[in-house]
Amino acid sequence: MILIDTHAHIYLEQFAEDLEDVITRARDTGVETILMPAIDIRSIHQALELCDRFSGLFAMAAIHPSDTKTASDEDFEQVQSLCQNANIIAVGESGLDYHWDRSFDATQKKFLRLHARLAISEDLPLILHNREAQDDIIRILKEEKERSEHPERLRGIFHCFGGPPHVVPDIMELGFHFGIGGTLTFKNAGVPDAINEVPMEAIVLETDAPFLAPVPHRGKRNEPSHVRLVAERLAEVRGMTVDAVAEITSQNAKRLFALA
Ligand SMILES: [Zn+2]
Repeated sequence: MILIDTHAHIYLEQFAEDLEDVITRARDTGVETILMPAIDIRSIHQALELCDRFSGLFAMAAIHPSDTKTASDEDFEQVQSLCQNANIIAVGESGLDYHWDRSFDATQKKFLRLHARLAISEDLPLILHNREAQDDIIRILKEEKERSEHPERLRGIFHCFGGPPHVVPDIMELGFHFGIGGTLTFKNAGVPDAINEVPMEAIVLETDAPFLAPVPHRGKRNEPSHVRLVAERLAEVRGMTVDAVAEITSQNAKRLFALA
């Protein structure tokens, strides 16, 4: 069985002590590819260093919406130039987060537009973080798609998708995938209902490690090998075998990220 963790922050200090073991456990579980979204400039460099150390790892470049508060134009220029690195396979993670701090919405939106334009110009997928901001994200992406000379290049993932279900058709129409992770295993999160109308061809798996560990590890450090638990739960929800889930979601991720 081949699994792909499309979203893991394994460059963070939570993995400093035992990263080799974490990657060995991932391999032993069938996780052959791990994609690392960035949160700031430093993390892009950290992820690129890991790509040099381990095979099957790929990095992304962007500034996380919550980190745009202190980000400068020079930071975005660095994101742009780092996108030229062959191990950068996406622009991420971008998006909007209205949960913690509403004092810099305008800055978050500015960076979302910059990241969307960068993804289109570099022909890379765009990875989106959303908290309570799906309507603005969808509106901005539609606007950027309309003004673009290459609208067909806009694609990516709504990472950690958990609804609301009514945005599913808009996300599909934009050509985006749904990143499904540990919250699928949470009892009261409602994720199985939220993805009821999402076809298997639009789903990719993720962990968001070290965050959002699936049951029975909920509350503990998450790691890429746990993507298998997400695959098992999705198999249950869809009435499929876990092998079929692994096969389809891995093909989806390979197609989206142009992985060999
Ligand atoms: Zn993330």
